[in-house]
Order: sequence, then structure tokens, then C-alpha cells
Amino acid sequence: MAKINILTKDIYNRIAAGEVVDRPYSALKELVENSLDAGATEITIYVEKGGRQLIKVCDNGCGIEPDDMRSAFIPHATSKVSCVEDLEKITTLGFRGEALASISSISRTEIVSRTEGNEACRVVCEAGYTGKVQPAALDKGTEVIVHDLFFNTPVRAKFLKSDKAEEADIHSFVNRFVLGNPDVAFKYYADGKLKLQSFGNGPEEAIAQVYGAKTISECFRIDAEKNGVRIRGYIGNQNFFRTNKSGQSLFLNGRYIVNNAIASAINNAYASYLMKRQ
Ligand code: ADP
Ligand code: MG
Repeated sequence: MAKINILTKDIYNRIAAGEVVDRPYSALKELVENSLDAGATEITIYVEKGGRQLIKVCDNGCGIEPDDMRSAFIPHATSKVSCVEDLEKITTLGFRGEALASISSISRTEIVSRTEGNEACRVVCEAGYTGKVQPAALDKGTEVIVHDLFFNTPVRAKFLKSDKAEEADIHSFVNRFVLGNPDVAFKYYADGKLKLQSFGNGPEEAIAQVYGAKTISECFRIDAEKNGVRIRGYIGNQNFFRTNKSGQSLFLNGRYIVNNAIASAINNAYASYLMKRQ
């Protein structure tokens, strides 16, 4: 056996990054969750080349204090948890303080941010090395720009799908964010083209943007409460079906979930109305 080494921060982060960010969509998911945690009501997303060349998420949330800009890239640095008790009552989507550290260790990541009462500033972190905080121009909120994701993890890069397939996976994540956050206005651009836009006007508008304008008129609205559990949503009528589950989206307290028990309960409820495999 060779001698035991203690891994340096940059090697360790690069390994850890693989657990948080395995594909471009997982980086995008982390950035959008940060924007939602920051209380954003408008989120604009840009991706280029399936997210491998560029992922940019701009929001109008609370912003990051100038003094915290560099800390955002440090592993286990979070503004969402400060004591053990906080773990019992987490209301944010993130809390581990891992995402920006991981993403920036395998890309060149830039943050531009402005909090109320402060000037905007900008900081770049490349492959885990964070630069100086510099003045920048921004009205409000935060922009996180991820360039060349996986540039220093060639093995991971080799296992990515085609740009088109990566973009399709990102698009389905954006769809989920739009459906799960119907009061937030989203814009999603891929390779310069506007692919999806919602205006934050509630669930019916969000469903129309994601599933098409005719969808709502083919759906029943559900709003029921029992044993302290409230279920809300829209379900298709007996003439409105697909042959797979791609039209089914479930959210628990605002988080997109996949749950076979609920999915089969829904299918069973339709059993006497639909043909097999509908
Ligand atoms: P976590 O979300 O688990 O706290 P992240 O690595 O995703 O960890 O982010 C680190 C910190 O950076 C967050 O706790 C937050 O304070 C800050 N941050 C990141 N993105 C944004 C954003 N879009 N707006 C405001 N603050 C942000
Ligand atoms: Mg986060």
C-alpha cells in the first residue's frame, strides 16, 4: 500500500462535485433553487450547448451581501442553517452549502449580485480558486453564470449525452419549476431562443405554458383537505390521456417528487375510465 494522503481542498471538492452535479441539469436545478430560496419572483435562465458551455440564472431575489460573495463558494457555507435546531425546521430548498462550491470546482463560475442599500459586485471562481470581489453593474438580485461546466473533469464530460439531449433534460426541469412555482415568472432561453415563458399568474397559466393552452379546459380542478393533508391540482378528464406518465407532475410542499405509491393511486382511480396503457 502507498502512503495515506490527506486530499487537498481542490481535489476533494472536485470529487464531491460529482455527487452534487452529475449533469448540466443538476447544476441548473441548484441555481434555480437558490433563486427561489432568495425569494425571487422573476427568474431568467439561459443555457448554451446543453448547459455545457453556459448556464446562466438571473433573479430579482434578496441578493448576496458584498462580504459574503466569496464565502458563497466555500463548501458547507450557507445562510440557511446556523444551528442544529434549524435542521428541524428547514423551509428552504437548499441548506447544505454544497452547490456553489461543487459547481465552481468543475467550471468557471461568476456571481454578480446586489443587495438593498449596496452597490453591485462580482466575483469569479475558477476550478475552486476564488478571485477578488470587484464592482459591477446590476439593478437588483443575483446572476450566476457557469461557463464550461466539467472542463476539468474529462471523464465526467465524456459521459454527457448530446447537447440536444442535455438541453431536453434541462427543459423538463424548467417545466417542473414553472409548474411547482406558479407565482414566479420564468423565462427560459436555449441557444438564444426563448423556449418557455410563464408570467407568475398562478397554476392555470403555468399549466397552459407547459402543457399547452387547451389543457385546462380538459381538466378538473382538485382541492381537498383530510387529516391535515391538503391536495390541490388538476387532473385530466376521461378523454384527455397520454400513453405514458410524461404528463404527470407531483409536488410535495413545492418540491417536485417522483412517488410510485401516489402515481399508482392516480392510475387506479382512472382504471375504470381508461383503456389499458392509457
Ligand atoms: P445552500 O443553498 O445549500 O445554502 P449553495 O452553495 O447553493 O448552498 O449557496 C450558498 C449560499 O450562497 C446560499 O446559502 C446563499 O446565501 C447564497 N446564494 C446562492 N445563490 C443565491 C441567489 N441566487 N440569491 C441570493 N443568495 C444566493
Ligand atoms: Mg443551494
